[in-house]
Amino acid sequence: MTLTIPTNAPPAYHLLVKPTGAVCNLDCKYCFFLSKEMLYPGSRFRMADDLLEIYIRQILESHRTPEVTIAWQGGEPTLMGLDFFRRSIEYVAQYKKPGQRVVYTIQTNGTQIDDAWAAFFKEYDFLVGLSVDGPREIHDTYRVNKGGAGSFDQVMRGWEYLKKHGVAYNILCTVHAANQEHGLEVYRFFRDDLKAQFIQFIPIVERATAETLPLALEGWRERPLYQQTGDLVTDRSVGSEAYGRFLIEIFAEWVRRDVGQVYVQMFDVALGSWVGQHNLCVFAPECGNALALEHTGDLYACDHYVEPDYLLGNIRETHMIELIASDKQRQFGRDKADKLPQYCLACDVRFACHGGCPRNRFSHTPDGEPGLNYLCAGYKLFFHHVERPMRIMANLLREKRAPAEIMKLYAAEDVGLDVEQFAHVGRNDPCPCGSGKKFKHCHGRR
Ligand code: SF4
Ligand code: SF4
Repeated sequence: MTLTIPTNAPPAYHLLVKPTGAVCNLDCKYCFFLSKEMLYPGSRFRMADDLLEIYIRQILESHRTPEVTIAWQGGEPTLMGLDFFRRSIEYVAQYKKPGQRVVYTIQTNGTQIDDAWAAFFKEYDFLVGLSVDGPREIHDTYRVNKGGAGSFDQVMRGWEYLKKHGVAYNILCTVHAANQEHGLEVYRFFRDDLKAQFIQFIPIVERATAETLPLALEGWRERPLYQQTGDLVTDRSVGSEAYGRFLIEIFAEWVRRDVGQVYVQMFDVALGSWVGQHNLCVFAPECGNALALEHTGDLYACDHYVEPDYLLGNIRETHMIELIASDKQRQFGRDKADKLPQYCLACDVRFACHGGCPRNRFSHTPDGEPGLNYLCAGYKLFFHHVERPMRIMANLLREKRAPAEIMKLYAAEDVGLDVEQFAHVGRNDPCPCGSGKKFKHCHGRR
């Protein structure tokens, strides 16, 4: 039967698929998603094989772009075992349209990765998102196993296998009370020790009400179902201004030595905004094209809204593209723009921020209007701080030059020298600041 794609359906969309639902072998203290097990009492939390086939067929036949991303997430998706993912590759081969290119991603805590997993990821060019919160002491503060012990060693073992097999990886670092004051240390650990070229910093904001806060503070397992309600946050959550300072501290290092070498999602996305592109739903004017698929086939508006009010339907009964194009989902996406408070509408960095993600809009503006993003103060700090360098890099891009050229400008300004003196310096040359180190290794240029 030929599929009729609704006219208002997006040509491409992003689906985070949770083949084990919320089930995970770790027990990270801030992971409210663990509580989502309660949505499916009695479930085995394993995506059935026929559903896997339905999912792959539907996502491939309903994309109208040459590239399709198959994105696995959890819970911990590797708990499904390798055979499940091998079958997914077979279904892709079966349903791929001529000319279609499939990109595979998986977000994992890394603890299950061994030779076999890493070889598989390499064979099919997976981009592996590895969750690490920083060096051992920081990482182990919240990222613990079921017995309460830190998971750092297990994660590093998984990372070693990824390195050994040459798998592409992306470090996913959550930012919270335990690492918010250690931005530079965390960043250098990823760059220098983990040799990371792609890094994402994800703020932890655990919402709670006065009733749920005491339980939330103990963690989310066996706790009330996490829902996007309440205007309180747990003490593990990142502070708003602290988040801004964390990013600024890292930016100061990145803009001086790592532009073009290390991709920090937040910086890339900000640069996109300065050239008029919106590459991440959080900072786009509208959203609604990044959904979540549960192990049962239930499709939800977003990974952050896996809760009953945001259930769109089940892909066994209704094709996912109809659910994605539904009035309910389109309205969900438009609400991001429609529900901005006046304070955001008048904000000078709205073009880069767009009010952030609706899930965090539970604060009040200075004049008392509800709907302001909890992270607003941090966003303002960051976007104002990077205004000049972003303008410079955006201009370089418009002139078809590399944004990395900005590093020469900073190098010159930092030591009070004329920028021309740095124009010829390569990354492996001695740093002209006189430190005796290679330019790319010199921390002392400020
Ligand atoms: S609710 Fe937030 S995370 Fe979800 S799609 Fe919208 S902006 Fe993105
Ligand atoms: S920085 Fe604050 S006021 Fe400005 S758009 Fe973002 S959330 Fe709104």
